Amino acid sequence: MTLDAVVVGAGFAGMYMLHRLRGLGLSARAYETGAGVGGTWYWNRYPGARCDVESMQYSYSFSDDLQQEWEWSERYASQPEILLYAEHVADRFDLRRDIVFETRVTRAAYDETANLWRLETDRGDRVAARHLITAVGCLSAARVPDFPGAASFQGPTHHTGRWPHEGVDFTGRRVAVIGTGSSGIQAIPIIAGQAERVTVFQRTPNYSLPARNRPLEPDHQTWVKARYAELRATMRESAAGILADPNPDSALAATEAERARAFEARWARGGLAFVGTFGDLAINPDANELAAEFVRAKIREIVADPGVAELLSPRNHPIGSKRICLDTGYYATYNRPTVTLVDVRRDPILEITPTGVRTAAAEHPADMIVYATGYDALTGPLLGIDITGKGGLSLRRKWAAGPRTYLGLMTAGFPNLFTITGPGSPSVLSNMIVSIEQHVDWIAECLDRLRARGVATIDADPLAEDAWTAHVSEVAGHTLYPRADSWYLGANVPGKPRVFMPYVGGVGAYRMKCDEVTANGYEGFVLS
Ligand code: FAD
Repeated sequence: MTLDAVVVGAGFAGMYMLHRLRGLGLSARAYETGAGVGGTWYWNRYPGARCDVESMQYSYSFSDDLQQEWEWSERYASQPEILLYAEHVADRFDLRRDIVFETRVTRAAYDETANLWRLETDRGDRVAARHLITAVGCLSAARVPDFPGAASFQGPTHHTGRWPHEGVDFTGRRVAVIGTGSSGIQAIPIIAGQAERVTVFQRTPNYSLPARNRPLEPDHQTWVKARYAELRATMRESAAGILADPNPDSALAATEAERARAFEARWARGGLAFVGTFGDLAINPDANELAAEFVRAKIREIVADPGVAELLSPRNHPIGSKRICLDTGYYATYNRPTVTLVDVRRDPILEITPTGVRTAAAEHPADMIVYATGYDALTGPLLGIDITGKGGLSLRRKWAAGPRTYLGLMTAGFPNLFTITGPGSPSVLSNMIVSIEQHVDWIAECLDRLRARGVATIDADPLAEDAWTAHVSEVAGHTLYPRADSWYLGANVPGKPRVFMPYVGGVGAYRMKCDEVTANGYEGFVLS
């Protein structure tokens, strides 16, 4: 069977792509490893899982009926509510009939003679398609470090990104939580509220800002809905795809009192707006340090034990250079007598034993281990598929020294393969729904135009790809991002090349570049 397109993944990217392909009258099918739609929000059912972008902004804009009718209940939507939304979208647009669930695409090979992609799945399906569109997500390849003895642990272990659907009862349990990134920071306060004892193993303290989540006021909802068109347009043109009213002024030019007032105001407001308190926080180390120290002072204020407060205070990277976390009561959790923090930089984990976690200094008994250890980000899900392009070139080989793409949309030598939110696009540095919609719309328009012109194949020009890859790295070099050992750089995966993967230039500027490429007849692409 030959399809016009196969989409891999049925999260927000895959669902919208399928909808647009159908709208173009193309035959399309999506494959999804999970048993349902929603991607991230299908898998990440850990307690406290919640969006860090306000719910009225973290939602599709492509259907006005949908955005007018859907009611969000909280300022930041919880995982169950986002999953309900994804399921509603799947039903509303009748998407499920073209999604094959519980089926992982394992191989995709480009057949040059037939100009087709030939795919294989873990269920033995074989399918051919003119276009292969990956919607595999940036944060879908869950990663657990290879601790010696891990398999010997007698109790249950759970990765936050593969959480059991029936939930987990922590009552009366001694729980070891490994990892203090965004997922750990969301989950720890809730686990600590139920468990008998929690031991948190921290490698890197992260900056976390108060979410100040609350029920969404009906008036606010009505206000936003009345202006959705205009607000969505502002988001699309912004740097991060959110409504954030960044202050362009310099932190260094402000007086101490002005700075304190500004930081306090945004801390009190809650959410990601804090990073926009001043215009030079992301680029000037001295300005950044002022914001970083403000957060550290807050940690010292909240956490009773000065030693624990210091351990929780990030000092080895600028604020914002790793993913900023939002929390509800995270730092205060360490005031509970039942919660212990272990700094694994000073006291590394040596092994998992049948009954707990052994560090250099002590044995920490545990009945359950929660791995909040993150993802093999951006490239992990793509390289999880054995993809071969022209001349049998494998994507794993091509990207051995780091991903190379043109606009994060295509990689040379792999014709008719599009990568939604691929490395080299703003993706994880933005409100991802904005970036997903932009990529899906661009790809849909491209397929439509090429069909009208009788063009059968599109590929990235290697020279354009070289220039874009260099540009992505150069722009990141002007910021403080590369100063942190972050997953943006692949630093969390041993042996992964250190390349800054997302595009820092902002979603607005990036969109303009993509539109320009279209207007110039797909400049930088080779059409045949
Ligand atoms: P995903 O939702 O990751 O979906 C990809 C799907 O592809 C998955 O279901 C996966 O099973 C499937 N898949 C992958 N490989 C294969 C294969 N080979 N075969 C078949 N199926 C495959 N973004 C924000 O903008 N704001 C936030 O606050 C935010 N919070 C987040 C919190 C967490 C805990 C995580 C993990 C991510 C968060 N994100 C956030 C990012 C989030 O991933 C995106 O917002 C968005 O959900 C991505 O949608 P997607 O469809 O691109 O990818």
